[in-house]
Amino acid sequence: MKKRLLFLGPPGAGKGTQANLLCSKQSLLHLSTGDLLRAEVSAATPLGIEASEIMNRGELVSDSLVLSIVEKRLASHSNGWLLDGFPRTLIQAEALEILLDKIQQPIQAVLLIKVDDDILVERLLARGRADDNETVIRNRLEIYKEKTSPLVAHYNKQGLVQTIKGDGDIEAIASRIQESLC
Ligand code: AMP
Repeated sequence: MKKRLLFLGPPGAGKGTQANLLCSKQSLLHLSTGDLLRAEVSAATPLGIEASEIMNRGELVSDSLVLSIVEKRLASHSNGWLLDGFPRTLIQAEALEILLDKIQQPIQAVLLIKVDDDILVERLLARGRADDNETVIRNRLEIYKEKTSPLVAHYNKQGLVQTIKGDGDIEAIASRIQESLC
């Protein structure tokens, strides 16, 4: 079973939901940069204050800020991990590779969760987070296409990408994910 994983897919694809299920089942570290950033925002730390306006517009926070919150957490967990919402740019992917080389823990699989755009917007509007109004959602989808989707080709070159159909019920998607990791 592969235990060093990365979820790729647009906002609303269900990465967080599936990551929670898989990580509790397999005792993996769930590293969601979105969750970590929201915790900083709630605690009103200097980092959170810097990030919150950017997040509310649906833009990406700076690579250096995200890397600083990822680095210390990854190194301290040995049973495997699942990265959710990181990396989101090629620069982040390259920085991650350097970090993983250093700790000798290469990625074993990149799961690309695919869902049609109209379903994504519907799901995100139903979720109702601070950055889930229609204008911001459209912006996040555009940013995903422009900055994050090039990572699919990047990881395809390394033979790591497996595509998962992200529609249907939660359990069915979880089984597809589970099967792809054996
Ligand atoms: P998420 O919960 O993954 O949808 O992330 C929510 C927001 O947090 C994003 O729209 C970005 O503003 C910010 N964010 C999360 N992860 C990253 C990342 N890896 N790089 C830059 N910004 C991020």
